[in-house]
Amino acid sequence: MELRDKIIGQLSAMTPPISGGCLCGDVTYICREAPVWSANCHCRSCQALSGGPFVSAFSVPAQCFNLTGGTVSFRRNAESGYEVVTTHCANCGSRVYAQSKGATHLVNVFATTLDDASCFKPVSNVYVSEAAHWIDPPETVINFAKMPQA
Ligand SMILES: [Zn+2]
Ligand SMILES: [Zn+2]
Repeated sequence: MELRDKIIGQLSAMTPPISGGCLCGDVTYICREAPVWSANCHCRSCQALSGGPFVSAFSVPAQCFNLTGGTVSFRRNAESGYEVVTTHCANCGSRVYAQSKGATHLVNVFATTLDDASCFKPVSNVYVSEAAHWIDPPETVINFAKMPQA
């Protein structure tokens, strides 16, 4: 099977509308288009922000993503040189999505917020070079030592 077919196969498990929200329920979202990418990020920043060894997220077109509820944002400069904004529930602190100023047409939604997480399949591992020593990155279609250039 070609790489492209494998990627499409992973993503096709998620059919819109895709809904989710934070732990306390104040923040909910709905996404009306299918994801274009999904990844496990093993970078040190995601580890520190999440409290776990990696985070899992799927990327959807920003214009089809609708969120309701109070949020707070955390901004940091990524290795790419672009600012990355992570949006959290203002009440419980759950990370809901992140967006890079270098790719504002996409939002990267954390898979742990899905109402039905059974449909999530990661296409890739990114920042495998920074992966925690106590885990083996889950099997995916493609692995990147750092973040691939879009
Ligand atoms: Zn919340
Ligand atoms: Zn990361």
